[in-house]
Amino acid sequence: MNELLSARPGQGPRAGRFGRGLLAALRLALDFALPPLCPSCREPLNERMGLCASCWSKLSLIEPPYCARLGIPFVYDPGPGLLSMEAIANPPAYDRARAAVRYDDISRKLVQGLKYSDRLDLAPMMGRWMARAGRELLADADVLVPVPLHWRRQWTRRFNQSAALADAISALCRVPATQSALQRVRATPQQVGMSKTERAANMQGAFRVPAEHRTDISGRRVVLIDDVLTSGATVDACARALLRAGAAHIDVLVFARVVAPARAPI
Ligand SMILES: [Zn+2]
Repeated sequence: MNELLSARPGQGPRAGRFGRGLLAALRLALDFALPPLCPSCREPLNERMGLCASCWSKLSLIEPPYCARLGIPFVYDPGPGLLSMEAIANPPAYDRARAAVRYDDISRKLVQGLKYSDRLDLAPMMGRWMARAGRELLADADVLVPVPLHWRRQWTRRFNQSAALADAISALCRVPATQSALQRVRATPQQVGMSKTERAANMQGAFRVPAEHRTDISGRRVVLIDDVLTSGATVDACARALLRAGAAHIDVLVFARVVAPARAPI
């Protein structure tokens, strides 16, 4: 239809541009008029639930019992306060981590929708689930700190998905969020395909608390906010930078975490 409008005799490229602008405006109006689509299966949504009922039922919420430190779900309940093998063998720089859901086909679509398709409307729903999963952490938090993007990536993507989640959680739990207290001072290559050791080395020295923001962090109980936790290398590097700036306590709250398939007990 674009070609039709601009190719009509007697109309120059100017009219074509005008036509295209009009079409874009019409499409935008249609987007608003149509019911929103489920970010996972693209079916129209009837209610403002964020996900359709079918995808909602397939979403894998992380519930207790889980490792008191890493939040990795246990297949059976070993009793309160028990730690996973991972937490004992390789303790992180932060204190506790919690995640709302497992990272799987459904949650990946939500994460990618928020990150790449500008589905900012998903942030309040995802933030609600995170606030529920992290209520214990948020109850005694002083400040929420989203994992920052390097300024170049933030510039091309226009917003930081972790900051959008931190703002959504802040609105619910009344703990203030700060975007300026932690900076990514080094652009790091994408971590896909890297081993756990390579990821840790990749993140070394990538984050810093600027001197003028040390007072925002020093002596504070911080909850770091991110969308996905994979190896934990990113949040670990953030936690180290916050500890260097004098943070009193650091917890981590993410939307989704990668959970290895359950192993048979030894
Ligand atoms: Zn769906």
